[in-house]
Amino acid sequence: MTRNLVKPATPGLVRLDVLRAERLAPHWMRVTFGGGGIDRFVPLGYDQWFRLFLPLGGDEALERIPAKANKLFGYLKYLRIPEGERPVMRNYSVRAFRPAGPSGGAEIDVDFVLHGSGPTAGPASRWASQAHAGESVVIIDEGLRFNPERGVDRVLLVADETGAPAVASICASLPKTASGIALIEAPSGDDVLDFEAPPGIEVRWLVREPHAKPGSAALTALGELGAGTLPAHPLHAFVVGEQSLPTTARRMLIADHGIPKEQISFVGYWRAGASSPTPRSQATDEHDPFDASRGSAESGASA
Ligand SMILES: Cc1cc2nc3c(=O)[nH]c(=O)nc-3n(C[C@H](O)[C@H](O)[C@H](O)COP(=O)(O)OP(=O)(O)OC[C@H]3O[C@@H](n4cnc5c(N)ncnc54)[C@H](O)[C@@H]3O)c2cc1C
Repeated sequence: MTRNLVKPATPGLVRLDVLRAERLAPHWMRVTFGGGGIDRFVPLGYDQWFRLFLPLGGDEALERIPAKANKLFGYLKYLRIPEGERPVMRNYSVRAFRPAGPSGGAEIDVDFVLHGSGPTAGPASRWASQAHAGESVVIIDEGLRFNPERGVDRVLLVADETGAPAVASICASLPKTASGIALIEAPSGDDVLDFEAPPGIEVRWLVREPHAKPGSAALTALGELGAGTLPAHPLHAFVVGEQSLPTTARRMLIADHGIPKEQISFVGYWRAGASSPTPRSQATDEHDPFDASRGSAESGASA
């Protein structure tokens, strides 16, 4: 049996304002959004993610985003917006939602990994590093990929830093009785961000060696987990990060630990050397949910 994804509950485009931005650590920027259409946003918890459109060509360009820019025909229309004016589209997770935050209204926190510097930084990372109150963005809700069978609250969560916000949000959404292990890779010791998790979930941060391949520390830690240290079956595994992490980890979980495929949600959050979304010709289902959504809806989530 293949498990389904959880569909989004917020229809259409939602315009939001930056309320504030805070540098959490050398590689982390938290941007808090609210205002605009926030009252239409339906929080789902867990690893809820969305398309984020950044107005790099000026705020007016946000008006030109097609309603279904996350679907094939809408995306083609979006591509017709001339380069330079076209808002940049990237994928991000809801780190936290508050129905009433310090601003008085509902708020969404998004934790951006700051990667690269100067011309090697991606546009979303660069935007986040300079985000300031009053800027506008547009989002399209995409729902959840984490979707264990009802009643399964034993988990194995594995991520590089880009998946840390999703893992933290999953931990905040799981029942207090949940148990398991979270292996999360950080680019440096200063980038370890503590978060609340049910007492039965052991959160292990793994600091990557400088210049090591993203995902390599998480894979090593996963390989070192003995059969006896994995949460007992049935469990649900969630593996996200640089493309080779989820694909390799999934293989290990199936071959070495006998975890059935349908109990593994795995998504490539980014691909080393390629901007996101990857052109279709270079993409694999595991890398980009945009492409996955055009092929088998389940692939990349719990194939
Ligand atoms: C469902 C989903 C949820 C996600 N949630 C989050 C989230 O909450 N927070 C978050 O920070 N990211 C998240 N990501 C990953 C994020 O979308 C990518 O990292 C994205 O490529 C960043 O866009 P960019 O414009 O900064 O860089 P791009 O223009 O896409 O890439 C430019 C270059 O930077 C490289 N690159 C991209 N990301 C990284 C990175 N993290 N480290 C090192 N090099 C990188 C690329 O390989 C490329 O060479 C998520 C992805 C998905 C699919």
